[in-house]
Amino acid sequence: MKKIVIIGEVLVEIMADTTGHGFTAPQPLTGPFPSGAPAIFAAQAACLGQPVGLISAVGDDDFGRVNTDRLAREGVDTSAIFTDPDRPTGSAFVRYRPDGARDFVFNIRHSACGTLHDTPQARALLDSADHLHVMGSSLSGPDFVALNLETARAIRARGGTVSFDPNLRKEILFAPGLAEAMAEMIALTDLFLPSGDELTLLTAASTETEAITELLDRGIRAIVHKNGAAGAAFHDARQSLSASAYPVDEIDPTGAGDCFGATFTTLWLRDTSPARALDLAMASGAIAVTRRGPMEGTSDLDSLDTFASSREPRS
Ligand code: ATP
Ligand code: MG
Repeated sequence: MKKIVIIGEVLVEIMADTTGHGFTAPQPLTGPFPSGAPAIFAAQAACLGQPVGLISAVGDDDFGRVNTDRLAREGVDTSAIFTDPDRPTGSAFVRYRPDGARDFVFNIRHSACGTLHDTPQARALLDSADHLHVMGSSLSGPDFVALNLETARAIRARGGTVSFDPNLRKEILFAPGLAEAMAEMIALTDLFLPSGDELTLLTAASTETEAITELLDRGIRAIVHKNGAAGAAFHDARQSLSASAYPVDEIDPTGAGDCFGATFTTLWLRDTSPARALDLAMASGAIAVTRRGPMEGTSDLDSLDTFASSREPRS
C-alpha cells in the first residue's frame, strides 16, 4: 500500500464549554484534545488502514504525550515526531461564538512544532513515502515551504503523487511569501482539495467553472471542492460530480475538512472510483462534525460504509 507523509503542526486543542466571545474571563474548559490539521488527517488515514507518517515536533510534556500516544494508537508512524527538550507542545484554545465563528488563542509559532527539525528519522520517512499531503496551514515559514516543495519534487520524480489542501482563509493569504508558496505548490499538485472560496482564490479566475478549467490546465489531475454543510464536488478532465452533504447535527465542525480530505486521498490512492471516494469522504466529514474534539470523529472503512448506506444525502 502507498505510504503517505505529511510535514506539519501537532498541537493540543482546549475547548471552551460555553459559546461566547473569547477568553478574557475565567471559564470552564475541556481538553487537551489531540489536534493539528496534519495530525487529524494522519489519524483518519491510519484509521482506514493506510500507511501514514508525520514529520513534526512536540515538547517533552503531557500535551506532547497526548498526541504521540494517540497517534501511535491510531497506527500513525510517529518515528519522525521529534521531542524538543526546549519548547512546549503547541496549543490552541478555541471558543465558538453564537454565530458559529471561533475565537482562538494560539501557541504554535514558538512551540515545538513551529521549528522544523530535519532529523535522520524525518529523512528516512520522506525517503520511504509514495505520497505527500500538504496542508496550507503548515506552510508557516520558509523552512516548511522549502521542505514541502523539495519533497513534492522528489516524490513525483520517483513516480509518487502529491495532494494539497490550502486550508487557508482570506485573512492569511497576504502573509509574506505565502501566495508564491501556494502557487509553487499548486504546480506540483495531483489532487487539490480546496474548500469554499479557496477554489478561486489561488487562480486568476473569477468563477468556479473558470477556476476548475485553469487548475486542470495547470496540470492538476483531480479537484475535490469542499463546501461544508452544502456538500462537495469532484472535477477531473473527464467528469464533474457533485453531492449533497449527509444530514447530521453539527456539534463541532473542526476537523471535518481534514477527515474528509484523508478519506478521499486514501481512497484515491487505492484507485477507488471518484463517486465512491466522494461519498465516503462526505460520510467521513459528516461523522466528524457530530463529535466534540478535532480528532475524535475519525472512522474506519466499515463505519463509513455503514453510515453511507444507512442514510440518504440531504436533498
Ligand atoms: P475545516 O474547517 O476543517 O478546514 P473545510 O472547510 O476544509 O473544514 P468543510 O467543507 O467544512 O471542510 O467540510 C468537509 C466536508 O465535510 C464537507 O464537504 C461535507 O461533506 C462534510 N461536512 C462538513 N460540515 C458538515 C455538516 N454540517 N453536515 C454534514 N456534512 C458536513
Ligand atoms: Mg480545511
